[in-house]
Amino acid sequence: PVMSVAAILADSAARSPGHTALIADDEEISYADLWRRALRGAAMLRARGVCPGDAVTLMLENTPDLPVACFAVWAAGATVVPVGAAARPAEVEFVLTDSGSVLLICAASLVAEAGQVARAAGVPVLTGAELATATSPLTTYEPRRPDDIAMVLYTSGTTGRPKGAMLTHLNVTMNIMVTRESPFGVTADDVLLGGLPLHHSFGLICGLGTCLLAGASVVLMRRFDAARALDLIEKHGCTLFMGVPTMFTTMLAAIAPGDAGRYRLDRVFSGGAPLHVATLEAIRAAFGCEVYEGYGLTEASPCVAYNQKAWPTKPGTVGRPIRGVDVRVADADLADAIEFVPDGGLGEIVVRGHNIMAGYLNLPEATAETVVGGWLRTGDLGRFDEDGYLTIVDRKKDVILRGGHNVYPREIEEVLTRHSAVRQVAVVGLPDDRLGEEVCAAVVVRDGFAAGPELAAELVALARERLSAYKCPRRVEFLASFPLGGSGKVLKRELAVLLA
Ligand code: ATP
Repeated sequence: PVMSVAAILADSAARSPGHTALIADDEEISYADLWRRALRGAAMLRARGVCPGDAVTLMLENTPDLPVACFAVWAAGATVVPVGAAARPAEVEFVLTDSGSVLLICAASLVAEAGQVARAAGVPVLTGAELATATSPLTTYEPRRPDDIAMVLYTSGTTGRPKGAMLTHLNVTMNIMVTRESPFGVTADDVLLGGLPLHHSFGLICGLGTCLLAGASVVLMRRFDAARALDLIEKHGCTLFMGVPTMFTTMLAAIAPGDAGRYRLDRVFSGGAPLHVATLEAIRAAFGCEVYEGYGLTEASPCVAYNQKAWPTKPGTVGRPIRGVDVRVADADLADAIEFVPDGGLGEIVVRGHNIMAGYLNLPEATAETVVGGWLRTGDLGRFDEDGYLTIVDRKKDVILRGGHNVYPREIEEVLTRHSAVRQVAVVGLPDDRLGEEVCAAVVVRDGFAAGPELAAELVALARERLSAYKCPRRVEFLASFPLGGSGKVLKRELAVLLA
């Protein structure tokens, strides 16, 4: 059988050529135009010697250049390797060499620094604009086999070197097809606010991918900004938003008191990090929309489980597994075997199905440790309830070991988020001579509230009321903001270093 992620755009362009695919600043691009640009880009790649199966690194901003480049690379039968526009030269160099890229497609604004790195590594450079200059486009896309690699996505690698997760055309196409239908239920009438970075699986596959399959429109933001996001929702009548929880908390904080009820959405999908129940309720109230939380990871292309329309939403859970994917809970302490825990038990979430990556590029050992007998070990702890809804308890590596007790930061964050002065909270373990680790809550205070010992005492009291003593934070630190990763998630390990 043959297939390609490129077929998603080719089919939509054939079905609804005149419909708007992308909206960016003041430019609107139709499906026919987007596909034409991709085929022209593919011809340019051919002219530059890119062959099917070659890797091409993309370092582009969230502008139409990025979708055009992705589909150009796929149409040419090559592999997309995205890096964030904010990547440092050393990171770009690592990705170029590790992926064996034959070309760097780079935003003109970034080419001064990144171009130098590429040339030093012997990799030719093309700007996003140059990609569009081929005169005779390819007539169609290069067919691929289902297990050919469509993209290599580097996980942020906060521990050790970044690892390139290889996702096949089958992985990506299936994740887009299954999630387009349910949970996301995207139709041609939808308008997505594309606030997520497109170099990451959530934005690229869940956001852009499902919308292009459905023939919907995507409003691109060069970079996420809460006030601008609100303006765009209003200006373009957005119906859909997919984001990580930090985006929602900043958007909620940016709504002026007099503007309550002004910004409407139909469906909001949260993923990538825990969505506290208080935040979920606040989003629902502010935007008058349904809020669905789900769970995924890059290595699973990325969707694993989601709350969805077909079943009652259960706040605090990530819903049920998506179609065609097995999700189980296994003993987290067994390194090289998968042993399921009894129903309802706590353990490491393991996943099997059409969404599991082909492996980590150039890392057979890490791959063998992560994919065991077809099961992907997610590194996340969770449990199923009696209705088959999955709850993420925490990341294995974020669990705090305090004097022989396992403390799950998420449980404490959930309690502290309920305090009216708290805009954002992250609980981390800090080194402690006596107990090994001690529980510390870092807090960003809402506008109009005063940080200080009084508030700290109130937060500790709130924790004491709801949690066993060993889980209560011994330290409360107030910060203006948290260190955030490329996809907008709180970087807990950096935060811990900052506070230690
Ligand atoms: P790494 O440091 O390993 O690169 P990452 O955050 O960059 O981490 P991603 O693939 O982007 O890697 O994110 C996947 C992880 O995000 C999951 O393994 C899980 O820990 C977390 N996650 C995703 N969705 C949720 C959710 N709804 N609730 C809690 N955690 C979630």
